[in-house]
Amino acid sequence: MRPTIARVALPVPLDKQFDYLIPNHLFPIIGGRVSVPFGRQTLVGLVTALVNESEFELTKIKPIKQVLDSQPVWPERLYALLHWCSQFYQYPLGETLFNAMPSALRKGKPADFATLVSWQLTASGRDQLMQGFGRAVKQAKVMHMLEAGSVAHQEFIDQEISSSVLKTLVEKDWIASLESKPVIRDWHQDVEANVDKPKLNAEQAVAIATVNSAQGFGCYLLEGVTGSGKTEVYLNMIKPVLEQGAQALVLVPEIGLTPQTINRFKRRFNVPVEVIHSGLNDTERLNAWLSARDNAAGIIIGTRSALLTPFAKLGIIIVDEEHDASYKQQDSLRYHARDVAVMRANKEQIPIVLGSATPALETLHNALVGKYHHLVLSARAGNATPTTNKVLDVKGLYLESGLSAPLIAEMRKHLNAGNQVMLFLNRRGFSPALMCHECGWIAECQRCDAYYTYHQNSSEIRCHHCGSQQPIIHQCQGCGSTHLVTVGVGTEQLEHQLSELFPEYQTIRIDRDSTRRKGSLESALTAIRHGEYQILIGTQMLAKGHHFPDVTLVALLDVDGSLYSSDFRASERLAQLFIQVAGRAGRASKPGEVVLQTHHPEHSLLQALLSKSYRHFAETALEERKVAQLPPFSFLTLFRAEANQSALVEEFLRQVRHTLEAHPLFDQYCQVLGPTPAPLAKRAGKFRWQLLLQTQSRPMMQKLLASAKPAIALLPNAKKVRWTLDIEPQDLS
Ligand code: ADP
Ligand code: ZN
Ligand code: ZN
Repeated sequence: MRPTIARVALPVPLDKQFDYLIPNHLFPIIGGRVSVPFGRQTLVGLVTALVNESEFELTKIKPIKQVLDSQPVWPERLYALLHWCSQFYQYPLGETLFNAMPSALRKGKPADFATLVSWQLTASGRDQLMQGFGRAVKQAKVMHMLEAGSVAHQEFIDQEISSSVLKTLVEKDWIASLESKPVIRDWHQDVEANVDKPKLNAEQAVAIATVNSAQGFGCYLLEGVTGSGKTEVYLNMIKPVLEQGAQALVLVPEIGLTPQTINRFKRRFNVPVEVIHSGLNDTERLNAWLSARDNAAGIIIGTRSALLTPFAKLGIIIVDEEHDASYKQQDSLRYHARDVAVMRANKEQIPIVLGSATPALETLHNALVGKYHHLVLSARAGNATPTTNKVLDVKGLYLESGLSAPLIAEMRKHLNAGNQVMLFLNRRGFSPALMCHECGWIAECQRCDAYYTYHQNSSEIRCHHCGSQQPIIHQCQGCGSTHLVTVGVGTEQLEHQLSELFPEYQTIRIDRDSTRRKGSLESALTAIRHGEYQILIGTQMLAKGHHFPDVTLVALLDVDGSLYSSDFRASERLAQLFIQVAGRAGRASKPGEVVLQTHHPEHSLLQALLSKSYRHFAETALEERKVAQLPPFSFLTLFRAEANQSALVEEFLRQVRHTLEAHPLFDQYCQVLGPTPAPLAKRAGKFRWQLLLQTQSRPMMQKLLASAKPAIALLPNAKKVRWTLDIEPQDLS
């Protein structure tokens, strides 16, 4: 019998699906999109089941308006994985599915390659190139960009060239547009390009052979010090996969997706490589997504969201820098791409390789207990030498914008030798606070429990939590004094200070403020590599994955905050940053030096890092976590809630606590902590509280939450506060 009712998941924040009648002339499929009426709107939905019965009265059910797909959006196993994600992360199925779709599909566009528009010069345009363009700067820019060949429309958008400029040039008959669909070519012959490859060392060879000879699912931790040739190992693991006609997925952290990285894959293989990241426009994203699904691409490289790309035939997953925090999504579907990737590899029965110089403690634990295979690269490849590390005790020393005299002297030595110096400070802006010298009043955000950061370059004070800003205040709002002083040092001030201390050298700052414009980070990194700057200042943005062979001195200016943080992961993060940063120095033949400025040189974490290794630190830290019953020795869920009234939020979370504690599944191994005010107790005018649930096992957490969540949603205050669940949170703020 033909089904009469379609069950549809919609992108709405409700843990349920909706029934629609199937009109006679429409043929929806499970896993395909439909458009349906919802209240007064029309929404795109996804069919999850075709049935003949509904718990609703048939006369109340509305019919489907349109069927949008003739084949499912996702292959079956990925569709199953998305269902798993929805359950594991306690996130509504409809929203989970729509989160995983390219936005073109979310908007109901056809799941077909979209036409790409590019531009080229006409014959008279070429003639005009000789004549010049007078004062029409933008027009000249377009013409010169086209000189070497056709250019994608998107590139003009990226360069902020308006369509009216293009239109004028078309009217002059100097340029013309070209429309094309991506060509799908068969890439399965001669997958490896004819390029020079390094001779593998023994550890690399073992790692490659282990993965390449295995069958089916297996999870491998590739623990390799920075510069040990992990990428070379990935390339060798991908090769046989491509040769067997399967595809490879390579995940990289947000900041690691540089043209350098992409080019290493493109140069090595004769297969189409597609890149998926948050900067793509709708069309580009859809095309990249389809080329993976339809086997037009052999390799997909991408950031977190690329994990949910469908593949015709996925053969291997690589997660580079697997410890990186950007793999965890911090809003909506709060998934951890590394963890879900392991699940995906399991469902697809393929190998997954997690690579890092500084594995997350969770991952290392899994390797140490034998759940994951452990592959180790212990030496730097090629001729790089390890760095010498030292702690610089700054107790009692005068700090000039955060710099101690011994550090300044050290910098001078390295700079005079013609090398580059890199300084890390994890604080943007000029200064983290603006204070009254007379009474101690500090300029505070009205909407948050936080101080304003002083930004000298843009002449404003800005809240880094809610984004509000205002012109610099010149008078104390407490006592009226005009003697306001800045407190603390940010990257902007450091930059300022360094150009005074070292006027003969060029300084560049890399942080979120200085790299706001698209492409600016890339051009800054290129300029650094070309030696245009000698002093590099940055937040941790600068720490990851970049090769700067002329950097011989790296300094971390202020690590004390991480030594005494309330977040139990702070020490792990500092250790990872330290090792990554040390990996920036001395990559070529020049020996590197790493300096840590601190008031606590005796701190055991620093000592472990300096004299021993990351592994030594990690094993000690795992011992501590075990004693404290923290992850990976327990499993956490963080309930966050916020509202305009503090008492309401606290009361809601107290009810949540009672609900959990009264639940039959709640046993002596479960624990609830809180409610407590969030570390940032007020943000953008909302009061924020949290509650932490701890269990002994993952399945326990799953069962308890799945069963308690409906009851929580019915609590009297549940509709008055905004609340979310963060399963296995990475960030407790
Ligand atoms: P990682 O990803 O571990 O930081 P890379 O793969 O980027 O390391 O390798 C660092 C450098 O060493 C690269 O320039 C790479 O070409 C080179 N390299 C890798 N393996 C070898 C090898 N076996 N012999 C010589 N050089 C190598
Ligand atoms: Zn604020
Ligand atoms: Zn004052």
